[in-house]
Amino acid sequence: MADIRSGHCLCGAVAFEVTDPAHELGACHCSMCRRWTGLATLSLGVPADALNILSGREAIRAYPSSDWAERAFCGTCGSPLWYRLTTEGDAAEYYLAAGLLDDLSGMRLEHEIYIDRKPDAYAFAGPTHQMTEAEFLASLPPNPEE
Ligand SMILES: [Zn+2]
Ligand SMILES: [Zn+2]
Repeated sequence: MADIRSGHCLCGAVAFEVTDPAHELGACHCSMCRRWTGLATLSLGVPADALNILSGREAIRAYPSSDWAERAFCGTCGSPLWYRLTTEGDAAEYYLAAGLLDDLSGMRLEHEIYIDRKPDAYAFAGPTHQMTEAEFLASLPPNPEE
């Protein structure tokens, strides 16, 4: 039986279901994620065909935070929704804001990126797989357009 997890933004306008989600969450400590969500952004990687948006498509706004990615949010309540590469079109994976899910049971924080950008003010308990900004950038596949 499929594991279907529901979720929604703060006001409830944007509601969705994720089919058979992974159980590993990732945290990003970069300065853009911090400003976007208040501190580290915890996200769940969801393949495009596993995210079913049930309602609120008209409320979804997207901010192009770089030349290659956008950050979607609810235009009514401002909840962050997901980070997504714009270079991969409709097939792009969603990095869904983990806190939108109604049920995070069985999930754990598995990795942290931009760990060298993390303020000293807080730390996750871990253990997690940690990568610095340089390590993370070096791990990305080369851009096929280059
Ligand atoms: Zn909302
Ligand atoms: Zn980030």
